Amino acid sequence: MNSESNVKEDIPSIGHFIGGQGVAANGATQAVFNPATGEINSLVSLADASTVDKAIQSAHKAFPNWRNTPPQKRAKILFKFRELLEQHADALCALITAEHGKVLDDARGELGRGIEVVEYACGISELLKGEFSKNAGPGVDSWSELQPLGVVAGITPFNFPAMVPMWMFPMAIACGNTFILKPSERDPSVALLMAELFREAGLPAGVFNVVNGDKSAVDALLLDARISAVSFVGSTPIAESIYKQATDNGKRVQALGGAKNHAVIMPDADIESSVDALMGAAYGSCGERCMAVSVVVCVGNDLADKVIARFKTKIAALKIGPGTDLNNDMGPLISQAAKDRIIRYIEQGIAEGAQLVADGRGLVVADYENGFFIGGCLFDGVTESMSIYRDEIFGPVLCVVRAQNLEEAMGLIDRHEFGNGACIFTRDGETARVFTDNIQVGMVGVNVALPVPIASQSFGGWKRSLFGDLYVYGPDAIRFYTHRKTMTQRWPSNGVLEGASYSFPNS
Ligand code: NAD
Repeated sequence: MNSESNVKEDIPSIGHFIGGQGVAANGATQAVFNPATGEINSLVSLADASTVDKAIQSAHKAFPNWRNTPPQKRAKILFKFRELLEQHADALCALITAEHGKVLDDARGELGRGIEVVEYACGISELLKGEFSKNAGPGVDSWSELQPLGVVAGITPFNFPAMVPMWMFPMAIACGNTFILKPSERDPSVALLMAELFREAGLPAGVFNVVNGDKSAVDALLLDARISAVSFVGSTPIAESIYKQATDNGKRVQALGGAKNHAVIMPDADIESSVDALMGAAYGSCGERCMAVSVVVCVGNDLADKVIARFKTKIAALKIGPGTDLNNDMGPLISQAAKDRIIRYIEQGIAEGAQLVADGRGLVVADYENGFFIGGCLFDGVTESMSIYRDEIFGPVLCVVRAQNLEEAMGLIDRHEFGNGACIFTRDGETARVFTDNIQVGMVGVNVALPVPIASQSFGGWKRSLFGDLYVYGPDAIRFYTHRKTMTQRWPSNGVLEGASYSFPNS
C-alpha cells in the first residue's frame, strides 16, 4: 500500500463512481500491475469509511424512485446498456487484459457471458410477475409480489473483473434495488467503465455505484444497517467470514468461495478429445478460474498413462505470453505473490511424493522477463492427503489421481471440502446418469469440461464453495434480490365486513 505522498505524478490514479459520477482518488492507494510486464499500470484508491458512506447515502437516496420505476422502463435502460457494452467491447477487453493479464479472446469470452446476464435481466417484467389466487375465500383474493430489498452490495474477485460483477448488479438493479460494487483492487478499471456506460444508457444517478478498496471498504459495507443484502464471490476463508459477519448484522448473504474441480475420465472415453477439452479447462486463463479443472481422475492405469502422455505433448505446445497477442493460449498470473505461492505448492507436491511430469517453473517469455508468467505444470501420482490435492492452487497446475473404478473416483470428489463443479468423460449413458444423479457438487458436466450454467439457469456450488442458500444469476437471483410479499384482500359486495370471529380464519 502506498500513502498519498508515494503517488508519482505520471502514474494515473483510479477513483470511484458515486452518485452518477467519477470521484477522484484520495487517501491511501494500492498499485495495480500489468501482469505481463510486471510494471505498475496505475494506483487504485482504497476507500475509507467516509467514501463508503457517500456511496451508501447516494444509493439510499436513489432507491425510492428506482423502486417505483416500472420494470419495463428499467428494462429499456438495460437494453441500451447491453448495446453500449457491445459497442465498447474492445475497450472493456483491453482493460481486462491490461490489469488481469488474460488473453484478449478469453476476455471477450468473459464479457460475453456477463452480457448474457444483462440480456436475461432485460426480461425483468416477465421475471417479476407475481402470483394471483382469485376467491381465496368468499369475496377474498390473494396475491404475492416480489419487492426489491433496498441497497445491496457486491464484492468481487480479480479473476473475472467484468463477468462476476455482471453476475450480480444487472439482476439486482433490474429487480429495483440500488447497488454498490466493491471490485477487486487488483483489476478495478473495467468496473468503472461499466458504470460510465450504464449512466450513458440512462441509469439514474446513485442506482449503481463503484467503490474501490480493500478489507476496510468491505467492513464499512458489512457494518452499515442501510445495506440489506451482500453478494460475495472470492476465496473460501473470506467468503465464510463475510457470510458470518453480514448475517450477524442481519443481512441476506450469498457468498461463493473456492473450488477444486475434478474431471473423471472413464476407460471408454475418447482420450484425445477428452484431454483436448481439459487442456482449456485446466490451463485457460492460467488456471485462474473458479471452474478450472485442477484434478483429473483417470479410471485405470493404462488410461492414466495415455492421458498423461497426451497432456505432456499438449502442455509442451502451449503458447504463453502477453494477453495482447492473440496467438497466445495463456497469459501471466495476476501477481508475483500468486506466482510465489504456486511455486511453493509445486515444491510441496514434490516433497510429498507426487511426480512433476511437466514443470513450468522455469518459463521465461522473451521481452517480458518481468511478467508474472509460469508454464503449464502436471503432477502424476497425486493422493488425497497431499496439499496440492486438498488446497485450491489457482494456477496452471493439474493433478492426476489414479483410481480403479467409478465408485473410487466419485468418492474422492464427494469427500473433498469443495463442491463447485465436476465433469465426467464417457460414452456410456448409464455411467453419466449415475454420476450426475449422485455426485456432491453444484454444477456437473458430461463430456463438458467447464459446465458453467447459462444465464437463464443459476450458478453456485455445494459444500464449502458456497455459503448461503441461493445461487447467483438466473431464477435464484430474482429470489435473492427481492422480498416476497403476499396480500389477502376482501371487498365485500355489500361493503359490510363480518363481525369478530375468534377462530382461526379458513376459507
Ligand atoms: P479474495 O477472496 O482474495 O478477494 C475477493 C474480494 O474480497 C476482493 O474484492 C477483495 O478485495 C475482498 N477481500 C479480500 N480480503 C478480504 C478480507 N480479509 N475481508 C474482506 N474482504 C476481503 O479472492 P481473489 O483472490 O480476488 O479471487 C480468487 C478466488 O475467488 C478463488 O478462490 C476463486 O475460486 C474464487 N472465485 C470463486 C468463484 C465462484 O463462483 N465460486 C468465482 C470466481 C472466483
